[in-house]
Amino acid sequence: MQFRTRSIHIGQEPDPATGAVVPPLHLASTFVQPGAGEWGEYDYSRSGNPTRTALETTVASLEGCGPDGGAIAFSTGMAATACVVASLRSGDHLLAGSDLYGGTYRLLHKVANRAGVEVTLADATDLDAFEKAIRPNTRLVWVESPGNPLMTVVDLAAVAELAHRHGALAACDNTIATPVLSRPLEIGMDIVMHAATKYYGGHSDLMGGLLAMREKAVYDDLKFIQNATGAIMGPLESFLCSRGTKTLELRVREQSRSAQHVAEWLLSRPEVSRVLYPGLPSHPGHAIAKRQMDGAYGGVLSFELTGGDAAAKRFVNDSKLFGLAVSFGAVESLISQPATMSHASFSAEDRAKYGITDGLIRLSIGLEAVEDLIADLEQALVAAIG
Ligand SMILES: *Cc1c(COP(=O)(O)O)cnc(C)c1O
Repeated sequence: MQFRTRSIHIGQEPDPATGAVVPPLHLASTFVQPGAGEWGEYDYSRSGNPTRTALETTVASLEGCGPDGGAIAFSTGMAATACVVASLRSGDHLLAGSDLYGGTYRLLHKVANRAGVEVTLADATDLDAFEKAIRPNTRLVWVESPGNPLMTVVDLAAVAELAHRHGALAACDNTIATPVLSRPLEIGMDIVMHAATKYYGGHSDLMGGLLAMREKAVYDDLKFIQNATGAIMGPLESFLCSRGTKTLELRVREQSRSAQHVAEWLLSRPEVSRVLYPGLPSHPGHAIAKRQMDGAYGGVLSFELTGGDAAAKRFVNDSKLFGLAVSFGAVESLISQPATMSHASFSAEDRAKYGITDGLIRLSIGLEAVEDLIADLEQALVAAIG
């Protein structure tokens, strides 16, 4: 069955009790047991809930978890990432790519370190430099591709091979690419993480996180930690996320088409000094993205104006259709200044070191008509730069 068909039918079978075409929303916190000390399929909703299972079944199919692995749904993307970090022990080392979501940076540098986990960042687009940062105690390698907000592209198969050669697990934050465009488990990664808040949900109306694993031991350990620590996706969010997932491929393909159009248009404008989008042949990661992503490059892009910080601040305020907000991946287009918004939790030194300038602007392309989006960007350019 094709991806699009599975996103509608796997895990989402009609309700056997009533024939309802949409599986019902199970809000129950607890389930009667067959007898004392006897366990049914469900007992308590932290450990398992039918509405959450439905979503996890769909996601496991879309991510390619295979017969031994599975997917786990969390309350937020950060809860999913924190679960992976919690599987490490004091004295373990975690190596992460430097183009990293701001909240992940904060978790690694201000929380994971308290538990005695050593953390370093290195440029994962430079495989030699990245491998040199591996230590004898490296147990987990964490990368994001495309990275946020610089849209760097990491060779995921090569990173997985490198991690395994050094006895570490390889994990990938695949939030921007989505399984429509990239399925890291199929090319050797051990753990895929998604902020379901973004494309999976797709409508800016839920918070959620997902982990997908293909190995039973890795799945079992993370499932155990989730049940022990409790950051599950709630039933209502699971229901909404299943609803969003049914249109994931349609949305991501259309948003990618519009983003490609916007990226090419920005490139033609004299007010724009730099456009970062893996779909542009000029992007340093284009060749890898072409090989690794399925025919499109996602709905997020970044760019810089010739006028720097002041022009960027005016521009994000002057756009009318693009909401000035963090987050991305929903039907409405959003605009942000990463240095002061999503990546404010980076230290100023690290922002400078990794190239997150104050003049950088990030766009999330929604499902509006691309002509309207470009007209809005054009009036904002004229207003910001004149
Ligand atoms: C939003 C986001 C997260 C965190 O997800 P939350 O649901 O906000 O906790 C992690 N990684 C990336 C790339 C994100 O965009």
